[in-house]
Amino acid sequence: MKVHEYQAKAFFASYQLPVDHSILCRTADEAVAAFRQLGTEKAVVKAQVHTGGRGKAGGVKVATGEEQVRQYASQILGMNIKGFTVDRVLVGEAVDIASEFYVSILIDRKSKSPLLMLSREGGMDIEQVARETPEKIEKIAIDPLVGMTDYLAREAAFKLFDDMQLVKQAVPVFKNLYRLFVEKDASLAEINPLVVTKDGRLKAIDAKMTFDNNALYRHPDVFELFEPTDDERKEQEAKDKGFSYVNLGGTIGCMVNGAGLAMATMDMIKLYGGDPANFLDIGGSSNPEKIVEAMKLLLSDKHVKVVLINIFGGITRCDDVAQGLIEAFRLIKTDVPIVIRLTGTNEAEGRKLLEGTHFTVGTSMADAGHKAVELAGKL
Ligand code: GDP
Ligand code: MN
Repeated sequence: MKVHEYQAKAFFASYQLPVDHSILCRTADEAVAAFRQLGTEKAVVKAQVHTGGRGKAGGVKVATGEEQVRQYASQILGMNIKGFTVDRVLVGEAVDIASEFYVSILIDRKSKSPLLMLSREGGMDIEQVARETPEKIEKIAIDPLVGMTDYLAREAAFKLFDDMQLVKQAVPVFKNLYRLFVEKDASLAEINPLVVTKDGRLKAIDAKMTFDNNALYRHPDVFELFEPTDDERKEQEAKDKGFSYVNLGGTIGCMVNGAGLAMATMDMIKLYGGDPANFLDIGGSSNPEKIVEAMKLLLSDKHVKVVLINIFGGITRCDDVAQGLIEAFRLIKTDVPIVIRLTGTNEAEGRKLLEGTHFTVGTSMADAGHKAVELAGKL
């Protein structure tokens, strides 16, 4: 789960990380009022959206004086950055930057531990640094049983700074960032840039955090910041109904019982040159209500051209499933072609029930996958 910069900065502040005073605003008038409250000569006006690269998109501007604050805030509010519309800006004290550094902690699957990443070349071009000169990014694996000890934090600090005054300031930054990362079950805590100001102080002028969804239940303070995208909202609604659903953006909607079979179904679609619209595991039983709910979910996705239903009848018998499907489709009106493949207990009986209906019946998984891709290609 992502949070905005201003929310991440609030977490930073509560862990004694060096962030400046800043005020969240929803209108240009509020931005001007915030500027007056800050009482500084210059202020930075920053778009608050769930994506990086705001600076390059024109969503971060340093303003001198009230009129410029108003002008930049009006420009940035309503701006579209990578598909996100800006409805909030953060107005903060502008910092006089001497140099910019990169610091982050994330979970590294390779070392199976948290990883501290550091670079002297922080700032807006960090992606390019990672691509072209990866040796300029230092990586320090942190043993979770030992944690961020003083010596490790000092070792890290020396990788970024030569000046002892800065090393001394950096040590608690790493320690506190790590404590925040662990205690809040974050999957990423990033400061880019961590700057050295012209008067020699360290400041986190950007803050980015993402949190492990599976641990949100124990962090109500984080979960209350959840602002789902349309896709995430749909996934959450599906979860509430007992489905496991992931939108994938293709054209063939899949309704499957069992996660393994759902994965295999998506592979099959890909094999025949199609694109699955989603992963959907409707779980064990396949009663008509469940099928109706699942169909509503699939058909609410405007990209779906064909629905492929792939059901394994183990405890649920295929003839019951077929009956359930026929009943369900009395309640659903749709022109979207439906391909069905049933296998398992009483599959022959199940297929017989579907004969003469408007469903396209697949005799095997391959046959059904092939038919679904073919139909999607024609539409
Ligand atoms: P991002 O592009 O979404 O990562 O947004 P950042 O918050 O990192 O800002 C992008 C860039 O704007 C930074 O790398 C800085 O160069 C610049 N910037 C941000 N805040 C300030 C500030 O207070 N003063 C100055 N001079 N520049 C700033
Ligand atoms: Mn940044």
